[in-house]
Amino acid sequence: MICHVILYEAALLLTCLLGDFLPSTVSGNHGNLWRALIDSLTHGGVAFFSWAVLVQARNMRGFWESLICGLLGMAIDSDHFIAARSLSLQAALSLRSRPFLHSSTLTLALCVLLFLTGHALNKGWIKLLSVMCFLAWTSHHVRDGSRRGLWFPPLGSTPAIPYSIYVTVTCLMPLVIMFLLQTCRVDFMSLNAHRQLFKEARLNNILPV
Ligand SMILES: [Zn+2]
Repeated sequence: MICHVILYEAALLLTCLLGDFLPSTVSGNHGNLWRALIDSLTHGGVAFFSWAVLVQARNMRGFWESLICGLLGMAIDSDHFIAARSLSLQAALSLRSRPFLHSSTLTLALCVLLFLTGHALNKGWIKLLSVMCFLAWTSHHVRDGSRRGLWFPPLGSTPAIPYSIYVTVTCLMPLVIMFLLQTCRVDFMSLNAHRQLFKEARLNNILPV
């Protein structure tokens, strides 16, 4: 439904703008903690609304999928703590190099591997997960990229992405993926689910026997 897409796109844009503005208003003793919290929630919100746009979420299933996508978008930053080998926020923010899950080479390879596995095993949920991971992780990298560029080891990094381009890419990405999935006729249902639906349709006299 076009109205759902417009609504979620507006929420996505607002999340980007608000999430990037709010940290500058925070100061005081717990400034770092609040900035990290806002940053993490913004990554989550961007991934949440990106998925909501993609599936044009209209029911609880769409909501839960969007929530999982949001959590995947936030989970990436856990690599700061893994690389620092500490739960200290200060240690996590003081890394000399970017932690491993911020490598776009790695996350893209993981997404492709997941998608091919789902395709080979004919498991719709694995294909769905691969697209979900791609949207959550790429939107995270693009947002971080507005500060530090995209990181493609071993090739190197791009320059920082201009703010307007980051916002535009973030808002367009779910629409482009939606278009590609429809064009390539990728669906997330397994063959068994198709058979089951076909059987039910026949039983309910929707399809001619
Ligand atoms: Zn990050």
